[in-house]
Amino acid sequence: MLDFLASGLVLAGICLLVVALAPVGRLIRQLPIGMLRRKWHVMAGLIVVFIVGYASYAVVFWGRHTDWAAMITPVVFFFGAGFVWMTATLSLQTAVDIRRAVLLEQEAITDPLTGLYNRRHLARRLEKEFARARRYGMPLSVLLLDIDHFKCVNDTYGHQVGDQVLNHVARLTLQAIRETDLAARYGGEEFVIIAPNTEASSAAALAERLRRHVETHPLVLHGGYSGRQEIRVTVSIGVAGLGRDTSDSQHLLQEADEALYRAKQQGRNRVVGVLARSGESPAKSS
Ligand code: GH3
Ligand code: MG
Ligand code: MG
Repeated sequence: MLDFLASGLVLAGICLLVVALAPVGRLIRQLPIGMLRRKWHVMAGLIVVFIVGYASYAVVFWGRHTDWAAMITPVVFFFGAGFVWMTATLSLQTAVDIRRAVLLEQEAITDPLTGLYNRRHLARRLEKEFARARRYGMPLSVLLLDIDHFKCVNDTYGHQVGDQVLNHVARLTLQAIRETDLAARYGGEEFVIIAPNTEASSAAALAERLRRHVETHPLVLHGGYSGRQEIRVTVSIGVAGLGRDTSDSQHLLQEADEALYRAKQQGRNRVVGVLARSGESPAKSS
């Protein structure tokens, strides 16, 4: 009688261990190749070893469960298997939840069309960079870029091609800036680049490089009745550097906007910079 009970417990344990292999397998498939994945492979191997051990126990100890004390081992085996199953299931669930949270977080700060950061993230980062620059007395510059006559692109080629042009300019922007700079879509066809630790003069040079990069790299479309088609756009860029009288991050952005306005007025396809007011160097705040 006790033998049947012991075998039942061991068999149930084996079932739990076999079931535990499924979440472990899913976890392994989700993990990138590397150390962690290898460790989960070892975990799967250990579970298989346990299964073989449980089965061997059931066979070898058949007929030896003569009193209740002998039942301790099968009971521990059963709960041990339950523990393994729960650990595997919870690990998979945790990994899935973390992955989902990271994706949501990524989505919350990304512009869906261009893949650049969105305006909300830009505001947050600009505030942080402003505070950091003030605290450590470091330079900080902001570039505000606007595609020239973009409405004409939409009117001539359609909204979809307009979207492709936005994407194209976003890509060119990422190619032109440094890794430490941050590019975001500010509005319809406007982009902002935050250049930390950068004097306005260097930022103006970066803006000029970017302006030329866009000017010399048209968007090439293939297919349709017209075959290969090149769409050339130009951009105007306003540059502002942090000065002593720059009150906050929004003020810096506003100065870049004023510079951009002047670039448009002066005929577009150009860079206009506002250096630190009155030629002052960025000051350390008290
Ligand atoms: P300017 O040189 O003065 O900047 O002229 P512009 O035509 O670029 O500026 P305007 O503000 O007159 O037009 C901007 C256009 O951008 C109008 C709007 O329909 C278009 N736009 C805004 N967001 C998007 C978008 O997500 N996709 C597309 N395709 N067009 C957009
Ligand atoms: Mg605009
Ligand atoms: Mg425009």
